[in-house]
Amino acid sequence: MDVLEKVKAAGVIGAGGAGFPTHVKLNSTPEYLIVNGAECEPLLRVDQQLGAMYADELLETLETLRAGCGARRAIYALKEKYHDAVDALGADIHRYPDIEMRMLRNTYPAGDEQVLVYETIGRVVPEGGIPIAVGAVVLNVETLYNVSRALSGLPVTEKFVTVGGAVKSPSTVKFPIGITIQEAIDYCGGPVANDFAVIDGGPMMGKLTAPESPITKTTKGLLVLPKDHPWVVAKGRDMARMLGMAKISCCHCMLCTEVCPRNLLGHKLRPDKMMRLASYNTTAEKDAAATEAFLCCECALCELGCVMGLQPWKLHQELKRRLGGLGIKNPHKDAPKAAAKFREFKLYPVQKLIRRVGVTAYDVPAPFRGAYDAPVKLVTLPLKQSLGAPSKPCVTCGGAVSKGDLVAEIPEGALGSRLHSPVDGHVLRLDDKSITIETAQESTRGRLN
Ligand code: SF4
Ligand code: SF4
Repeated sequence: MDVLEKVKAAGVIGAGGAGFPTHVKLNSTPEYLIVNGAECEPLLRVDQQLGAMYADELLETLETLRAGCGARRAIYALKEKYHDAVDALGADIHRYPDIEMRMLRNTYPAGDEQVLVYETIGRVVPEGGIPIAVGAVVLNVETLYNVSRALSGLPVTEKFVTVGGAVKSPSTVKFPIGITIQEAIDYCGGPVANDFAVIDGGPMMGKLTAPESPITKTTKGLLVLPKDHPWVVAKGRDMARMLGMAKISCCHCMLCTEVCPRNLLGHKLRPDKMMRLASYNTTAEKDAAATEAFLCCECALCELGCVMGLQPWKLHQELKRRLGGLGIKNPHKDAPKAAAKFREFKLYPVQKLIRRVGVTAYDVPAPFRGAYDAPVKLVTLPLKQSLGAPSKPCVTCGGAVSKGDLVAEIPEGALGSRLHSPVDGHVLRLDDKSITIETAQESTRGRLN
């Protein structure tokens, strides 16, 4: 079986959050293969620790992929402040003449694919495009780790997740996919706030989620915050209220556009104009169109740029949903020759971001505590964990499964990924949304001290 077949068979998808099937992404001939070790969302601590713990495997796998796809160079990009990872990778990299490390500054969003491509190879990805348009393929660190296991025939059944914020023992743990977010939080000592909310991901791009939801192949962080934390309240604010606030308070200062990382790459994304269009329902903005929302990566930096606390990203999210529902696709395809003038001076420092979001108290280490060793009673595997079509179950209700068994296939001819059982057990429930597997173990939970 060749490399791509092994990656496909193991169900590897982008572990950084996007969930693009990796065998499809790797089926190309890039000039550069770039590892995204930026981990630019504050409080997340997965990729930097994987880089330190598995430097050998990661570099060896990277070289295998580079040679396999014929890339001229491979670049492992990470922040210079990740000293342990820098030291571990640096100690080994001399064995790979076609791989180099590239140090990134501590700015947000350094891990946005398009920003990363510009920072590493100096090329601007065209509007609405992907990195291969400029000769690059980008892989997240954990995705690379999963590829290294796939090459040994091991499927993706576990997920490295940082559980942080208002929990007793902020930690990074390798959890079985499918246990609940509540179980993961309890394993890290439980919440220290009575009434709490959970953000799936980092504080900026993460979404509010329910504690009973399962951990999936794209869960990277679980951030617990008091429910009345201003950032949680703002995340939960509905669009109508936000636009009502914009009508009263948007002063068209353009500060949201000044900080926008996509605008700084030269893309025609101007959140200030979109806010004017939406809040005044005006047609005065003759050179702006609602479809510009397609160019937004929803990094939420415009909210921090805005002196009024408005949320252009939320408007863009809604516009993309509505335009997509009408069958309208992104018409903006310009390829800027260069990034914006003065971009270098407008990059947003992460320390400032942490203060503005109000999570300074939670900016603490979240050391890796190994694999989850509490008993597991149930795992729930959503069929839609990757981009593309939902996976198609290939098990029946009541059927026995062993850890690593294939339980759902890629639908014929579709973009998608396979799913495997993270536990030994039997299929308890099966519907068009998920597969639930019950184990024979007791349901008593463990806890980190
Ligand atoms: S979320 Fe805001 S800052 Fe980020 S890309 Fe979209 S408009 Fe720009
Ligand atoms: S930064 Fe805020 S107030 Fe200024 S234009 Fe943007 S949304 Fe309006």
